Amino acid sequence: MAAQKVGVLALQGDVAEHVAALVAVGAHPVEVRAPEDVAGLDALVLPGGESTAISRLLESSGLFDAVGERLAGGMPAFGTCAGMILLASQVVDGRPDQRSFGAIDVVVRRNGYGRQVDSFEQALPVRALGAEPLEAVFIRAPVVERAGPDVEVLAEVGGSPVLCRQGPVLVAAFHPELSGDLRLHRLFVGEC
Ligand code: GLN
Repeated sequence: MAAQKVGVLALQGDVAEHVAALVAVGAHPVEVRAPEDVAGLDALVLPGGESTAISRLLESSGLFDAVGERLAGGMPAFGTCAGMILLASQVVDGRPDQRSFGAIDVVVRRNGYGRQVDSFEQALPVRALGAEPLEAVFIRAPVVERAGPDVEVLAEVGGSPVLCRQGPVLVAAFHPELSGDLRLHRLFVGEC
């Protein structure tokens, strides 16, 4: 079987790390910068970075509608940190003009972990990944304030979901692309 063509939204953020992780799990990553890059993708990764900036660039590049159509059609997507914010159904503490795709029924609060714990690392048990906890890196991460009834919570920190799935959409509040642990990318690509 040919390797899956997995787009990485390459407008801003940690694009190179996701590309490297996708290569390492045997997928064929494609950097997505313009609407024509979306055609023929099997799946899309939305990286961490700054969701307000990515939202603006999605609009100015014409990608917002092109990606939104594919997501509405059921294209698998994996969003990490800012990528999670972009896939959410509702964003609290966003910029007024910030848009999100509503591809997963979660309400997220930007920078919700507050100043003192802007960034932290945590060994995160994820049952779907086996006994070994995932080393999860949180950087000015969003807090999931509500997850809808159809959302499967795969991991939590302090009672808040940090890894969620709804159908073909997977979101993490942390950065699996920065820890060198490929299990979440493997899980995503395996399900595409
Ligand atoms: N705080 C950023 C935002 O609101 C997300 C941070 C990240 O992706 N590491 O987009």
